[in-house]
Amino acid sequence: MKKRVVLAVGCRPDAIKMMPLYKELLTRNSIKPILLSTGQQKQNLEKIFAEFSVKPDYDLHIMRKDQSTFEITINVLSTIQDVLDEIEPDLVLVCGDTTSAFAIALACYYLRIPLGHVEAGLRTNNIYFPYPEEMNRKFISMIAQYNFAPTKYAKANLVKEGVKEENIYVTGNTIIDTLPYTVRPNYTHKELEWVGDDKLIFITAHRRESIGKAMHNMFKAIRKVLDENKDVKAIYPIHMNPQVRKAAMEELGGCDRIHIIEPLDVVDCHNFEASSYLILTDSGGIQEEAPTMGIPVLVMKKTTDRPEGVIAGTSKVVGTSEQSIYKEFSKLIKNKAAYAKMSKKTNPYGDGHACERIADIIEGKEYQEWKN
Ligand code: UDP
Repeated sequence: MKKRVVLAVGCRPDAIKMMPLYKELLTRNSIKPILLSTGQQKQNLEKIFAEFSVKPDYDLHIMRKDQSTFEITINVLSTIQDVLDEIEPDLVLVCGDTTSAFAIALACYYLRIPLGHVEAGLRTNNIYFPYPEEMNRKFISMIAQYNFAPTKYAKANLVKEGVKEENIYVTGNTIIDTLPYTVRPNYTHKELEWVGDDKLIFITAHRRESIGKAMHNMFKAIRKVLDENKDVKAIYPIHMNPQVRKAAMEELGGCDRIHIIEPLDVVDCHNFEASSYLILTDSGGIQEEAPTMGIPVLVMKKTTDRPEGVIAGTSKVVGTSEQSIYKEFSKLIKNKAAYAKMSKKTNPYGDGHACERIADIIEGKEYQEWKN
């Protein structure tokens, strides 16, 4: 009998990180992978599934307009039990820190179904930052039997919280395994043609914690650097959130060297990153992806739950004040030595073999820990 392993996804980051694992598990003779979508971010998910040519076996269809975390949790819990009763899984895998992942984990606990957590152990140790993600992932760690920590650093966070060492496996982050599917050598796009030989700055900013003054500061600093450097162009795929759009229009509107565009599909996003000179972001996943491409990242946050890049020297936390973002951004445009120091093609988050390791562990095979 094959082991029935459910991979549950709900949003953009966890779906992107679970796709290569789903593909890997399909190649294993002893495993029957079952893809379950909560549908928390319906449109994003449909595009990602299409890009990877996969179709979910089950879809909870929980998405509602302007849904709150209460509704997401309630809707997952009220729909998942029948589905899990029907599948009778041997193991359920969730990824990261979404509210869908938390609600699925809670359901597994209620039903006494073994749980595996992909990307376990990321922490800021502030339960309101990121909110509600920090608490979502802490709850999942309390329930999961398999904690697939991307790095030694993440493992240490789990050990500090009392998770048993024998339940933690250091595998690397599966996002690095996604990149061979998405990054293409001859990729072209009309936006990249617009950039031409100028330096491309790729920007993403949408996190809940950034909205308000911090976001205005980010945009003001970016505007100043663009105004001062004529060989620099920026592309900013903007989030659907109306507050983000309003702030961007107020601070960046009318600047002809920034293109504010609609959210990109994952293949476009990863290839835009790969074509960049520098990335400015408040996203988590982008901090993990960029070092594979050798692109420096300025993290526009007060702190990061992904410190490995900072330690490796591929990213820098620049805070959320206009002055600090301007200073570090300008430096990397003007100072070649400072730029060269950060643009290393070495990834502290994974080596592209995380999915093989996780599949080996699930199959009960000998597993080689990722030594980062
Ligand atoms: N991403 C994307 N299109 C975009 C912006 C981001 O496909 O317009 C991808 C990005 O490459 C990364 C993931 O979405 O793989 C990160 O998602 P997000 O920033 O929403 O979440 P976080 O990583 O901060 O949890």
